[in-house]
Amino acid sequence: MTQQIQPIFILPENTQRSTGKNAQRNNIMAAKLVAETVRTTLGPKGMDKMLVDSLGDVVITNDGVTILKEMNIEHPSAKMLVEIAKTQENEVGDGTTTAVVIAGELLKRAETLLDQDIHPTVIAKGYRLAAEKALSILNQMAENISENDKSMLKKISITAMTGKGAESSKEHLSEMAVTAITSIVEKDKETGKTIIDLQNIKLEKKVGASVEESELILGLVIDKEKVHYGMPKQVRNAKIALVDAAVEIRSTETDAKIHINDPMQMQAFLDQEEKMLRDMVEKIAKTGANVVFCQKGIDDVAQHFLAKKGIYCVRRVKKSDMEALARSANGRIVTNFDDLSEQDLGSAGLIEEKKVGDEMMTYVKECKNPKAVTMLLRGSTEHVAAEVKRAMEDALGGLASALRKGKIVAGAGATEMELARHIRKYSETLSGREQLAVNAFAEALEIIPRTLAENAGLDPIDILAELKAAHDKGMKWAGVDVFNGKVMDAFANDVIEPLGIKTQAVSSAAEVAVMILRIDDVIAAAKSSVPPMPQGSMPGMEM
Ligand code: ADP
Ligand code: MG
Repeated sequence: MTQQIQPIFILPENTQRSTGKNAQRNNIMAAKLVAETVRTTLGPKGMDKMLVDSLGDVVITNDGVTILKEMNIEHPSAKMLVEIAKTQENEVGDGTTTAVVIAGELLKRAETLLDQDIHPTVIAKGYRLAAEKALSILNQMAENISENDKSMLKKISITAMTGKGAESSKEHLSEMAVTAITSIVEKDKETGKTIIDLQNIKLEKKVGASVEESELILGLVIDKEKVHYGMPKQVRNAKIALVDAAVEIRSTETDAKIHINDPMQMQAFLDQEEKMLRDMVEKIAKTGANVVFCQKGIDDVAQHFLAKKGIYCVRRVKKSDMEALARSANGRIVTNFDDLSEQDLGSAGLIEEKKVGDEMMTYVKECKNPKAVTMLLRGSTEHVAAEVKRAMEDALGGLASALRKGKIVAGAGATEMELARHIRKYSETLSGREQLAVNAFAEALEIIPRTLAENAGLDPIDILAELKAAHDKGMKWAGVDVFNGKVMDAFANDVIEPLGIKTQAVSSAAEVAVMILRIDDVIAAAKSSVPPMPQGSMPGMEM
């Protein structure tokens, strides 16, 4: 009797599975492709990408993380590379392309080692050792910076903006960035640590003027107009009341009805209402306030009284704007008119209503020591304005990172080159196969200067050889001069970056490379075409 062998299924039908070398190669290939895509945008001479989404909206950008987010990547290990770009963006605000490019190169070098039959765990270990070493070398290499060193801060900002859409106005925009950051920087009273909350710099973009016309307002711009035409268009030496209460007669909570039998009674009722509103306005005026920002509504009758007193009022201001106003004008938000006193008032040199584009806005300007500021970023088209905003975000992120750590390094590939040199030396202290992996890590870092050179149309082999020679001679900040096609001292030539960009890029690139290398089995469930079960339905029920 022949026994029939039944096949066993442990996975559902249509599950896709790849194992061993196959899985590894596919993962590496996908990650390499992602890195290759953003590589051409790196550096001052990098190109831009035009991304068109499914609705036909167009984004033109040079910013690594923006490109990757818009690409809608599906492959799981390619997605991991997108994740490091996002982390880089959140943690340091710049250097997203750098992180992804290094990760891609680490995987490419790993592939060569795999071809030589070196086990992935050995490569993973080597990469980890190298990354650890890299961080300690970076910390030793870095130079110090303080918030008083405005000229150095400006260099950081200019480096971050070089090659972006904002390039042509980078001087002006960098001045703005440095002033903004140094106004909002604070010191923790206990630890003495530098605290920077970038939320306190509000970025508003408005189309219709050249980038050069962008301005920094030491205060806020609120996209609201004054409530009544009779109010002044401008208030100098503003004393500002911030109220989170309605300047209205509250309607009755329950459905109470008021019976009026006689016209006199009606008049008395209205007079009473008017008097209450007049009292509220009186209370505000008595504090000396000449400007009111109200988070709630302001009654028409009250508006009229306020206008007669020459008080500038804005109603229904967003909560976040109210909080920012309190920080800019140094005032206190009051929830009850009875509590409002002179001490609660904020101050600003000038408040005015102005037309920007085709909208009316209220400017709160010339605040003394504002702890929240606004940048009005302009561009001739939506695309330009959006790219200027992204460049500004990179610059502010870079400045914040530099000040938080208080450390900077040179860019232009100088730091990566010097790191590679140290790590190569370190590899000589290791044995056999690990040495190969650590060496591969060092070579992978050279992808940054190589790419900067390639993107500038230079011969990467010549430049890299020259760079290596310079570093061996002790020029630790030797980097690529992409504009003149030679080697330069990047620090002396003002190409300065925060240390945080480099430490974050190196450590997250190494982490993701190691994670991808250690995968030897990919089990992908078939894409479900049925919508998720509605809540409460029984699992296992036939659909
Ligand atoms: P990322 O998204 O990684 O920040 P960028 O396109 O902003 O990518 O390019 C950053 C790289 O360009 C860094 O390596 C930086 O040192 C380099 N870089 C910036 N300005 C210059 C310059 N003037 N000369 C040479 N390299 C520069
Ligand atoms: Mg950048």
